[in-house]
Amino acid sequence: GIQARLNAISAVINYKPAHAPLNFHDTKPTEIFGSNVFSEKVMKDRLPKDVYKSLKKTIELGEKLDATIADVVANTMKDWAIEKGATHFTHVFFPLTGMTAEKHDAFLVPDGKGGAIAEFSGKLLIQGEPDASSFPSGGLRSTFEARGYTAWDVTSPAYILENPNGTFLCIPTAFVSWSGEALDKKTPLLRSNQALNKQAKRVLKLFGVETKLPVTSYAGPEQEYFLIDRNFVFSRPDLLIAGRSLFGAKPPKGQEFEDQYFGVVPRRVLSFMMEVERELFKLGVPVKTRHNEVAPSQFEIAPIYEAGNIATDHNQMVMTTLRSVAKRYGMVCLLHEKPFAGINGSGKHLNYSLGNADLGSLFDPGDTPHENAMFLVFCAAAIRGLHKYGAVLRATVATASNDHRLGANEAPPAIMSMYLGEQLSDVFEQIKKGKVNGCKTKGLMHIGVDTLPPLPMDPGDRNRTSPFAFTGNRFEFRAVGSSQSIAGPQVAINTIMSESLDFIATELEKATKGDDKKLNAAVQTLLQKIIKEHGAIVFNGDGYSDAWHKEAAKRGLPNLKTTPDALPVLTTKECIELFTKYGVLSEAELRSREEIYLEQYCKTLKTEANLVVRMATTIIFPAAMRYQSELAAACCNLKTIGHDYKMSALETVTAKLRGMQSAVAKLEKLLEHEADGTHAEAKFLCDKVLPGMTEVRSFADALENVVADDLWALPSYQEMLFIR
Ligand code: ADP
Ligand code: MG
Repeated sequence: GIQARLNAISAVINYKPAHAPLNFHDTKPTEIFGSNVFSEKVMKDRLPKDVYKSLKKTIELGEKLDATIADVVANTMKDWAIEKGATHFTHVFFPLTGMTAEKHDAFLVPDGKGGAIAEFSGKLLIQGEPDASSFPSGGLRSTFEARGYTAWDVTSPAYILENPNGTFLCIPTAFVSWSGEALDKKTPLLRSNQALNKQAKRVLKLFGVETKLPVTSYAGPEQEYFLIDRNFVFSRPDLLIAGRSLFGAKPPKGQEFEDQYFGVVPRRVLSFMMEVERELFKLGVPVKTRHNEVAPSQFEIAPIYEAGNIATDHNQMVMTTLRSVAKRYGMVCLLHEKPFAGINGSGKHLNYSLGNADLGSLFDPGDTPHENAMFLVFCAAAIRGLHKYGAVLRATVATASNDHRLGANEAPPAIMSMYLGEQLSDVFEQIKKGKVNGCKTKGLMHIGVDTLPPLPMDPGDRNRTSPFAFTGNRFEFRAVGSSQSIAGPQVAINTIMSESLDFIATELEKATKGDDKKLNAAVQTLLQKIIKEHGAIVFNGDGYSDAWHKEAAKRGLPNLKTTPDALPVLTTKECIELFTKYGVLSEAELRSREEIYLEQYCKTLKTEANLVVRMATTIIFPAAMRYQSELAAACCNLKTIGHDYKMSALETVTAKLRGMQSAVAKLEKLLEHEADGTHAEAKFLCDKVLPGMTEVRSFADALENVVADDLWALPSYQEMLFIR
């Protein structure tokens, strides 16, 4: 009740840090960085030379793992881990729930003489068999073969997690069924990188570019999150269980002053950030930037980009670390895409490129883009791919929570389009017309302060309203949700790129027939063809505007507004063909994904709807009722002393209460509905139940604005967002 709310406020006000802030005075970040990683350096120092060489080949060149070295590696890993205080090891895997999963096993084995020895064999390193039958498989596993197994991902380094309660060795793994079907996020990511490498190499070869290293995707995910004092969360069943507020009137002050964006970071939050960074540094996660975000109590952390697979594992570690460190500071880290209505939600910008250490980013135009034919070819591949398969990419960011954000004037709309910027658009415009005269020169941006050096104009510029924006040497995919794994979107982009590069390589191989001299003309013709057919995906204007929605429809670009609209794309003919052709996902794997994600959508909405009913009935109704009777009593009293008038506050409260009661009854009725199949259920929840929840909320929020504050039990938006 109200006491809990007051306690929460007083707990926040009287908050004292549990320990002195951790800073880097004692140990330099450079010493800490990677100290808990079974890194290349550790391997080189500790492994026999031939074993190290063989392992390095697998890691760097993607060659097949020599299983005979596993015992030696395992033993070395174990010794290293035990020196660092580890008692257990775990295969870490990434089931389709988007979570990070682990199952711990002790190194300890009885020696048969009453003592024990520490053991870790190659077999245990390479393969694990978690009893993970309760992870969703979407029909991929029947109960008799319910066990999946985990397989060591050699390319992502093992690491040690230190906890006050225990320290253990973590081995990143893929999670597959006995018949080899991917039950996780990592397996398709690895497969898609293989496909990407193969097709990119064909194109590079045409341009006479040789590289021994595989071409891989690169990812730099910018992670947004909210921090709320945990005492508020405890008095808020919605935040606690659903991760977002299902009630809450708009605060008098929201984010309209924009005084938080890049503002001074509050001290408690800064201490939190320092500790997060310290933990992540130990794990070798190269976190780089931190700042306040637009909404009150919203922040961002971003690492330096890394190879896609590693960046993905690292982003999972970032999310886990944010959550666990927040607790140490008496806060809760909300990764939900829309914890608070009416103020910005959280996303995860996925900065994406492809390349390798030899070549850098293949999306890097160099100094004069129009000369850099190879860059244009890779760019054209992206244009063609996004135009053909935008809906597939859209489907990878379809979740119940992200639905609140996409298209809400704070995040790009659900329409996939590409921002190229003025300079690059101009080049493609000229290619379309058939003659390239030269591009608009990279201008200097004069910022009007003489003492500052002129800054080179970013050819990518900043258009925050585009879901897929070229930003100079990479694309930034901005529709990813903050709580999501970045694997899915990357798998889609990798595969889409593979298909386009395959197409391009095939066309160019046909046209040149091995004659280098024919390459230029062939590229010219092909680029022109691509931009003519697929240029409709390019849009540099305001993606939030209504005009764009109309224009996009005219251009035939799909606008899949909600999750039930978007997920069925996964099992369309085109999508199945795309993913099977490049060996990334089989039809069965795609079907299982659609099913699992729809199920998750339904579960989320049903939980939320039940919470709405429960909270409206047990928290909001009693508060409003009490206030109503206070008002009624006051009216009676006034009447006894001769005043006879209608008290408008009483009228308002009564009307809103009635409204809420009937909205709750309606919602309860809706929840009894039995749908025919998961998709129909998702559709019903989306079209009927969600609006039903909103209706209850509108009455409840109106009540919050009139009911006496000392009767209201739920912490207000104001309190949660501004008291820290
Ligand atoms: P901004 O907010 O201006 O977009 P940030 O510095 O917050 O910039 O984030 C940019 C992200 O893009 C970082 O993670 C950065 O490492 C990453 N990035 C930079 N270059 C590339 C590239 N070639 N490929 C992938 N990611 C990149
Ligand atoms: Mg960015």
